[in-house]
Amino acid sequence: MKFLFLTNPAYGHLNPVLGIITELVKKKHHVVVYNTEEFAEIIKKTGAECRLPPFSVGEFDTRKMNSALNIAEKILEITEIAVPPLTKIIQEEKFDCLFHDAMGLWGKLAAYRTKTPAVSLISSMAINKNVLLRYTKYLISDYLKEIIQPMRTLKILHSCNKIYKEMDNANDSIIDLFVNKEKLNLVFTSKYFQPISESFDPSFKFVGPIIFDRKEQAIPEKLLQTKKPKIYISLGTAFNDNIDLYKMLIKSISNSSYQIFLSIGNFIKPTDLGKIPDNIYISAYLPQLEILKEADLFISHGGMNSVNESLYFGVPMLLFPIIQEQRINASRVEELGAGIYYKQRIKGEEELITLTNKILSNNYYKKNALKIGQTLVKTGGLQTAVDHILAFVKG
Ligand code: UDP
Repeated sequence: MKFLFLTNPAYGHLNPVLGIITELVKKKHHVVVYNTEEFAEIIKKTGAECRLPPFSVGEFDTRKMNSALNIAEKILEITEIAVPPLTKIIQEEKFDCLFHDAMGLWGKLAAYRTKTPAVSLISSMAINKNVLLRYTKYLISDYLKEIIQPMRTLKILHSCNKIYKEMDNANDSIIDLFVNKEKLNLVFTSKYFQPISESFDPSFKFVGPIIFDRKEQAIPEKLLQTKKPKIYISLGTAFNDNIDLYKMLIKSISNSSYQIFLSIGNFIKPTDLGKIPDNIYISAYLPQLEILKEADLFISHGGMNSVNESLYFGVPMLLFPIIQEQRINASRVEELGAGIYYKQRIKGEEELITLTNKILSNNYYKKNALKIGQTLVKTGGLQTAVDHILAFVKG
């Protein structure tokens, strides 16, 4: 069979999908993947045919995707430019199934216009009115900032309505912009961890995180095998330049007997953080899955993949969310007792040490992380996702 993946240029969106692509290629399907030059290398490792998009959307800075209005505008801009060339390609080449990101309206519209069966890949929590209402208190300050820009909001609503009307679902348009629902929707977490999962119809399949060998650069085995408590720190790949937080973390826990792994991303350099103590292994990008297998605590920004991966290995978290969706994830972790969501401004190093020690010394967090982890493992992850896809395409 011939599959088309319109993937987004961000690790958080691409990582779970890479596992699915690898598996479909292994099963001898022809898989075509569109993404930017930056991700071509890792996509080629899957054995799929990697192509650059047949359109240019200018600069795509994931770090500007920190507000609902910015995201909505970018989605609509890409949709306008991308749909005509994509439709032409799909009509010429004919695919058995098209896969797009939950925020990939251009994929949904191109699939609709070419009558191609399509799957939405949801790498965040699945969102609907119920979920948004439940977490309003964590989202309200962002909403208020945005609501005072009525012209932008009206323009977005108008464009959305027009596009979704063509596909006969104008009523849901503004929320669907962040889900782009299809007949099959894969959510990479478990029903237990997804808030209000019972409010989603059966087209939403909660398949769990896609854990597979990403063939990433290894780190010294002796650091992973040490008897010392191990703390992994990462703020993900997009909003990860919080120098003050790193410095405070380094100051607060470096004097301890912990082995620390610190991933700082590509936007800052280790030298920006001053002297790095010996018990900290620092890098721009670390093999997160390998470290989480051994870690005792994950200090994280609460990105959905990071949260799922941590829980999959039963690792409790101390969370410093930055953008809206991460606040939902962090709240859910705290609700289920698998970690602490830090909501105020950090008062100082003392507080960080206290929180770190609280999670490490209290079995409550570990026990709940393991409990959620079991639900994630049980969902079947990659195998379940691929089974759903093949049944959907054959059906
Ligand atoms: N990641 C990794 N090593 C790093 C930093 C990140 O492997 O040093 C991976 C991580 O395992 C996850 C993804 O990058 O799969 C980050 O996605 P997430 O949704 O957690 O956060 P985002 O980067 O989108 O903010």
